[in-house]
Amino acid sequence: MLCLGIESTSHTIGLGIVDDDGNILANERSTLTTESGGIHPRKALEHHHLFFGLLLEKVFDTAKVKPSDIDLIAFSKGPGLGGTLRVSAAAARALATKLNIPLIGVNHPIAHIEIAKLTSGFKDPVILYVSGANTQIISLAAGRYRVAGETLDIGIGNFLDAFGRYIGLGFPQGPKVEELASKSKTYIELPYTIKGIDFSFSGILTNLKRISSKYKPKLSKAKLGPAKQYVSLGKEDLCYSTQETVFAILTEAVERALAHLDKKELLVTGGVAANKRLGEMLNTMCKARGIKFHQVPRELSGDQGAMIAWLGILEHKAGRKQTLKQTEVDKNWRADEVDVIWT
Ligand code: AMP
Ligand code: MG
Repeated sequence: MLCLGIESTSHTIGLGIVDDDGNILANERSTLTTESGGIHPRKALEHHHLFFGLLLEKVFDTAKVKPSDIDLIAFSKGPGLGGTLRVSAAAARALATKLNIPLIGVNHPIAHIEIAKLTSGFKDPVILYVSGANTQIISLAAGRYRVAGETLDIGIGNFLDAFGRYIGLGFPQGPKVEELASKSKTYIELPYTIKGIDFSFSGILTNLKRISSKYKPKLSKAKLGPAKQYVSLGKEDLCYSTQETVFAILTEAVERALAHLDKKELLVTGGVAANKRLGEMLNTMCKARGIKFHQVPRELSGDQGAMIAWLGILEHKAGRKQTLKQTEVDKNWRADEVDVIWT
């Protein structure tokens, strides 16, 4: 069985073709980027409209299959931006009608989880889901992906992007922050905000803005800490300190979740899971606790269509069917609202 998956919850339009053994035949995508600043939802919408047709051709070419070989269409039904979500919803409905095959709208965070489960082979992991808008620690219990802990304000990706924007980087800022961070070892103290298995980033962002705005545009000297010392600071040092602080918070929260839930496997998935330093910290913690660790491969970490196709196959084979009404997009659809009928 072959499924075509379509993703357009936010910055990326992606199309993937996957078979029911989990082989990814093609995974084509295009991401809206900027030289500076963030992404405007309307620009993302225009970008997705522009690229959908090209990607559709490309995905069939790469997979070496014809539209008539496809048995199922899956798309991201939510959560995400209302406008961009509707791009794949409309396209998916049109394709399913034209090809006369079933259509299924799937939950985007769960697609990130299931693609990482596929690449890891893990059966009962704790999942650290780190993407733009979402940051959650999740595990499967009583038929649902339950959220054990999560951000109390902004998602880690949006946090890194907003901070990067502030120091003049373009979208997506996360990978650029990673690159700059790798050039420093100068740590400045930032707020460390964790409550049990929940955590928060907006206070850290305010603090970073305060430090960097004082010394804009050069970021060369900053007045720091209660001692009011002057320290020579570059963007690299701010990026390094930011990563060390927020990834330590996530690692601490995950460690607590693993202990509470008594699990032996940890998965990290979502766009920010591409980050090497985050992987290193989690890996060190897992080694110390005898936990198996898997970081989703980089090419499957960010938003793409293959993960949507794979979840579509899992749900379809488990017997889930949706009426046209049930394929309406849902901007705020949480992972823990979905009955997991496929495991
Ligand atoms: P997603 O919404 O799952 O596609 O994730 C997108 C988010 O991942 C954006 O906020 C990116 O800045 C972030 N991101 C992508 N690559 C990296 C990286 N290497 N390090 C940190 N954040 C990243
Ligand atoms: Mg995502």
